[in-house]
Amino acid sequence: MDGKTVFLDRDGVINVKAPEGDYIKSWSEFHFLPGAIEAIRLLNDHNWHVVIITNQRGIARHLMTMHDLNRIHFSLKEELQNHGAHVDGIYVCPHEKGTCHCRKPDIGLFLQAEQDFPVDKSKSWMIGDSQSDIEAGRNYGIRTISVVNLNPLADKQFPNLLSAVNFLVNS
Ligand SMILES: [Mg+2]
Ligand SMILES: [Zn+2]
Repeated sequence: MDGKTVFLDRDGVINVKAPEGDYIKSWSEFHFLPGAIEAIRLLNDHNWHVVIITNQRGIARHLMTMHDLNRIHFSLKEELQNHGAHVDGIYVCPHEKGTCHCRKPDIGLFLQAEQDFPVDKSKSWMIGDSQSDIEAGRNYGIRTISVVNLNPLADKQFPNLLSAVNFLVNS
């Protein structure tokens, strides 16, 4: 590994996001988006580190517990594994807005990842569907790709994760 890392947002990038104001609270509510597993496997095959960084304010709002979230992520990893794919880490901000330094667009989740493995910022990318993802990647100092909700602030824009990943592995 040479530190080239793809940081992925979760909801709206890997799985169907919950309706506004709601959260994915159990595995039964988690549905992969088309091509998402294939995209992660493609990154694995091309020796990218793959890291999920996700804001989960539903925990601060007591709509779910950290235990619920850990169970979802256990099943997520298991399902990826069943398809020959994996993520190297999942980093979560469970806090309310304005109460921490990890909630995107802050960069605390990237800094947590850096504790666990080297990140070469010059080779790394943030992929997300929200403004806060793109701002977070820019704040951290890596290039950004917006998916689904095309964002002119991002360095690149693609309709979905698989098309973004196809660009990365072919460039
Ligand atoms: Mg999202
Ligand atoms: Zn936080």
